[in-house]
Amino acid sequence: MADTPRIVGIDLGTTNTLVASVRNRVPKVVPTDRGSLVLPSVVALSAKNDLLVGGVAKDQVVTNPKNTIYGAKRLIGRKYDSKVVRDLKSYFTYDIVEGADGDAAVSLGGRTYSLPEISSFVLTQVKTIAEQFLGGPIQDAVISVPAYYNDNQRHAVKEAGKLAGFDVKRIVNEPTAAALAYGFNRGLDQKVLVYDLGGGTFDVSVLQLTGNVFEVLATGGDTFLGGIDFDNRVIDYVLEAFRKESKIDLSQSPIAMQRIKNASEAAKIDLTLIPNVVVELPYIEERKGKPVDLRVPLSREQLNQLTHDLVDRTFHICDEVLNDRGIQRSSIDEVLLVGGQSRMPLVQQKIQQFFGKPARKGVHPDECVALGAALLGDSLGQIDAVTLIDALSMPIGYALPTGRFRKVIEKNQRIPLVKSFRLPPPLQPGGPFIELDIFQGDSEFIVDNEYLGTVRVPAGAVGRRIDFRLDEECLLKVVVADVGDPREVTLATRDTPDTLKRALAEMMAKKTPIDAREAAEAGGLFSSLKRFLGGKD
Ligand code: AMP
Repeated sequence: MADTPRIVGIDLGTTNTLVASVRNRVPKVVPTDRGSLVLPSVVALSAKNDLLVGGVAKDQVVTNPKNTIYGAKRLIGRKYDSKVVRDLKSYFTYDIVEGADGDAAVSLGGRTYSLPEISSFVLTQVKTIAEQFLGGPIQDAVISVPAYYNDNQRHAVKEAGKLAGFDVKRIVNEPTAAALAYGFNRGLDQKVLVYDLGGGTFDVSVLQLTGNVFEVLATGGDTFLGGIDFDNRVIDYVLEAFRKESKIDLSQSPIAMQRIKNASEAAKIDLTLIPNVVVELPYIEERKGKPVDLRVPLSREQLNQLTHDLVDRTFHICDEVLNDRGIQRSSIDEVLLVGGQSRMPLVQQKIQQFFGKPARKGVHPDECVALGAALLGDSLGQIDAVTLIDALSMPIGYALPTGRFRKVIEKNQRIPLVKSFRLPPPLQPGGPFIELDIFQGDSEFIVDNEYLGTVRVPAGAVGRRIDFRLDEECLLKVVVADVGDPREVTLATRDTPDTLKRALAEMMAKKTPIDAREAAEAGGLFSSLKRFLGGKD
């Protein structure tokens, strides 16, 4: 008899969510109640106020676009006034609002839901599906996230898991999970590049596989590049072609837009298999009581022209990641493709050009992350457990009085790790506390980076040792050495404290660059400051 798994691996995707489990050492994706292997990551409120999740929620996106939440993965763990959220607002048909602590949240049927809540509805559904299929309660889960997720986003996903009733044993990076699905128990000694172009994010990671030791050598990506961006190019093309022909602008009609979105994505996917398609939407509008149909032919060649810069961007990121660690393209033994958008023929062609070899066949781009997460979950606590050695995808540090970012942990450092330093003097001398504002990001200016939180300790602690501890899930803990008793200081708040907002406002008002180099960069800095403080760019 097959053993009953007690832990599942979950790929919480932008578009779809998959859940997998290991039985008799073989990982398999659990089918949903609709018989499919994927559950659309969509949450909706029906006309009768019922909460819908998955396929049934996706089905009503055309008729009820305001109350249908998709793409939550792009918003989770983000601040409401961040650039990312502002950009997404114009593309998403539902209302994005400000939630607790300044986080982005969504409005559904007049009620505000946090993004962890929305994702927890998807995870709850996944839990039920797995329990029904596997025939018993499932408490434990390993959930994957993009390697490029920052600390806030990782915490938010963990919280979603908890809200769904899971004990989240581990957050694992998606490329690491994909590499596990490929190399687990195969005794390989290879350098593998995982190219993951999904619905909303692009990730690239280089891993060294040595038996069951999976070491991330370098990682990078863009949380704002994925299939949705390809869809948007097609949508804009279709809208423009229709406008030219009929003089009708459909961009202000939510229902027409939703139909065009669906048809554009379908056309893009079909062009992976066939060279020509026609986007056809009967009765898209009415003129003088007569129906107007939309009919726009599109070829693969045209799609390539509309999107080649997006594909090129992925290869620039590959180059950056490889250069960062001095890894030669030719030393990559295998390229693994992950994410639905990586099926695009142009991507495959460019892989061949860039690496001089085709992508590895036999790794399922949709399933491998969930399968790898399940394998990792299954191996936790076992003697022959997998060893994961991960790397930090974005530097972590703190704010200097000049608005610059002092890095404490550099990018691509192996984790887990501890970095210690002496507590610097306070930003505003004379107060009873020292506040250290912690950020994560690639920029040397804090305003361009993601605010993680503030550590507050008594002023007398200046010069004491402070540890930044990154655990194996890439989550940050800050510990300040007290005499004889190390004290863990949780990040005091995830909302930007008023003192920090004031300091940034002052910097903006003064506009007196500290040195000549800063003067050259001041344009970028001040526009970023404006963005950070209120979005009045
Ligand atoms: P994922 O987040 O991995 O589920 O990826 C979903 C994205 O992949 C969506 O943007 C889909 O439109 C896209 N996609 C799925 N299948 C294909 C295909 N055959 N060709 C091109 N894009 C695809």
